[in-house]
Amino acid sequence: MLVKNQTFLVLGVSKSGFSAAKYILDKGAKCYVYEELKSHKIDRAISELTALGAKQINMSEVDSILSIIDVLVISPGAPINHELAVRAKERGVRIVGELEFGFLQFSPPIVAITGTNGKTTTATLVDAIMKEAKKKSLLVGNVGVPISSKIKDADNDTVVIAEVSSFQLESVSAFCPHVSCILNISPDHLERHYTMDNYVYLKKRIFKNQKESEYTVLNYDDSIIRDFLPEIKSKVLWVSVNERVEGAYLQNGKLYYYDEYVIDERELRLKGEHNVYNTLFAIAVAKLMGVSNDAIIAALKSFKGVRHRIEHICTKNGVEFYNDSKATNTASTISALQSMQRPTVLILGGSEKGESYINLFEKIKRSPVKQVVLTGASRFNMLDAAGKSGYSLVTVTSDFADAVKIATMFTESGDNLLLSPACASFDSFDGYEERGDAFVKIVEGL
Ligand code: ADP
Repeated sequence: MLVKNQTFLVLGVSKSGFSAAKYILDKGAKCYVYEELKSHKIDRAISELTALGAKQINMSEVDSILSIIDVLVISPGAPINHELAVRAKERGVRIVGELEFGFLQFSPPIVAITGTNGKTTTATLVDAIMKEAKKKSLLVGNVGVPISSKIKDADNDTVVIAEVSSFQLESVSAFCPHVSCILNISPDHLERHYTMDNYVYLKKRIFKNQKESEYTVLNYDDSIIRDFLPEIKSKVLWVSVNERVEGAYLQNGKLYYYDEYVIDERELRLKGEHNVYNTLFAIAVAKLMGVSNDAIIAALKSFKGVRHRIEHICTKNGVEFYNDSKATNTASTISALQSMQRPTVLILGGSEKGESYINLFEKIKRSPVKQVVLTGASRFNMLDAAGKSGYSLVTVTSDFADAVKIATMFTESGDNLLLSPACASFDSFDGYEERGDAFVKIVEGL
């Protein structure tokens, strides 16, 4: 897409929209911005963009602006049914998401990774493998690095690894990665996507434009994903921990790529079955990108994982404290529970995303969890689900710090204390990082 001499309107100026607007202005194109959120950060972003020549508009000006713009760029934070996007569509204005906007400026191959859980871990691991192999790589997308902020840094030899969320997939139409991955699919973000069918439909967009010369790596053990096969034109590789598949798989505790042995599960620094999946996806991608086994193995042995994902904080009085603040849906909490080998006191709760918690409590009943402490806006719905599942080892408190202290009182030497909320954090925090940091601070102060 040519940027110069075009007129853009950017919807939302948080990280992604800000980067797109900045890129547009740097190219000397005209840029309007629209934002309805208010915060110091947003004010600063708007001041910076207006200093570079952007013009901020309000809703009453939208119709006149839509008649003069060529492209509307949407940030992932704004839903595709946002009033401004709907009005732009009615007028026939071209609409692109920030991810697609960046993609259209890029020439290097993109590895795009989506799924409900494990995206950041897998994308970061692929990046670590590329770095180990001395390949030039860029980690972008939902990891918190907008693709449009890195356009200038990518040349044709760069491998661009993009973590892609369902929010970003709402507004793509031409996006076509060289390698796409779908790690897993379970209910998430239904408050925005309304139905599971729609959520699954959005995830499939990651491979929609891929052709025979490209690759799609899919989870064979996920029945929703396995059914995608007839819709895919690219070459398909599978990942499985149960079967010997065409791709990357686990057999007798060893990880293979086709017939080639790569590494023993015990040598992986990341623990838990969910991380075996993440690792198998990373191996498949690395092999497709021509990385040697030596570099793959070295990276797998040293990769420590990403903060706030079953992060070991400390040991106090024989109790291991884990911060899994990034577990913002029930599937991720269930996978964290599967990694717990000792009796575990679990802190759950936060802001809701439209999920039922019944299955979570059914899993808790069959896990090493010895006590649950509920907190956050979801606590009463969770309590209700616990009751319906016949699980009674539950304590409820509204305050997060109290929840951590109460949970600690239930622990004894030899236990784990795990924060894995199964919910978003926006009821009390400005994101899962802030919640995880608060948890670490409270634990350190105990
Ligand atoms: P995402 O970027 O998709 O949110 P992360 O890598 O940040 O995924 O991990 C988020 C949480 O999901 C982690 O805290 C962990 O408990 C869980 N998780 C990670 N990988 C997987 C996986 N492959 N399957 C299920 N749960 C996972």
